[in-house]
Amino acid sequence: MTFSATVLTLFPEMFPGPLGLSLAGKALAGGIWSLEAVDIRKHALDRHRNVDDTPAGGGPGMVMRADVLAAAIDAAVTEDDPRPRLLMSPRGTPLVQKRVRELAAGPGAVIVCGRFEGIDQRIIEARGLEEVSIGDYVLSGGEPAAMVVLDAVVRLLPGVMGEALSGEDESFETGLLEHPQYTRPRRFEGRDIPEILLSGDHGAIARWRRAEAERLTAKRRPDLIRKK
Ligand code: SAH
Repeated sequence: MTFSATVLTLFPEMFPGPLGLSLAGKALAGGIWSLEAVDIRKHALDRHRNVDDTPAGGGPGMVMRADVLAAAIDAAVTEDDPRPRLLMSPRGTPLVQKRVRELAAGPGAVIVCGRFEGIDQRIIEARGLEEVSIGDYVLSGGEPAAMVVLDAVVRLLPGVMGEALSGEDESFETGLLEHPQYTRPRRFEGRDIPEILLSGDHGAIARWRRAEAERLTAKRRPDLIRKK
């Protein structure tokens, strides 16, 4: 079963972009997932191809029109399409690994990318869009955010990561940040790989990694520990 992503955007030429390279790109070429970028402007209703207008109530900037977005969404997704419909939005629910896993276990996602000041509230309600934020900062458009969502999801799809296990003890999967990683050379600018990692004692290594993960999380993200 192919994970099917449809992205609605004013800049379809941004896709696949970084998603066409490395892990995600190989999986895309290999048919593990599919990506369709829909040009919202093609669904404009007037001959000037207007997609935005001034905000009701005044103020700076432009707002994307509900009618144009409705036409774009309705052309791209049928009513019985089981895929969740996401809207990238700084006001949305912050994206976490748990939601990423849920999305990866599903049939795909329809992702609407905003631009300008955002999109008309009525389309969010009328098409049941789930607002998703990638963090507490403001981007100029939803496209990089959609790429973040898809990158996080695609790497979890079966067959994408080389070692099936490598997703499991990563940051957030255990409720903790990941322990530090090392590789050759054994000594780098006077710094050695911690002795224990070279000991071959797998029990001791696992305990060290766990302790490091807990220490790092307590120091940097105490909120993750409180949440457990
Ligand atoms: N005026 C809006 C910001 C609009 S930014 C506000 O203050 O809330 C333009 C578009 O960029 C948004 O419609 C959204 O699609 C995208 N975007 C900006 N920041 C984002 C974030 N943190 N997460 C997800 N999408 C974001």
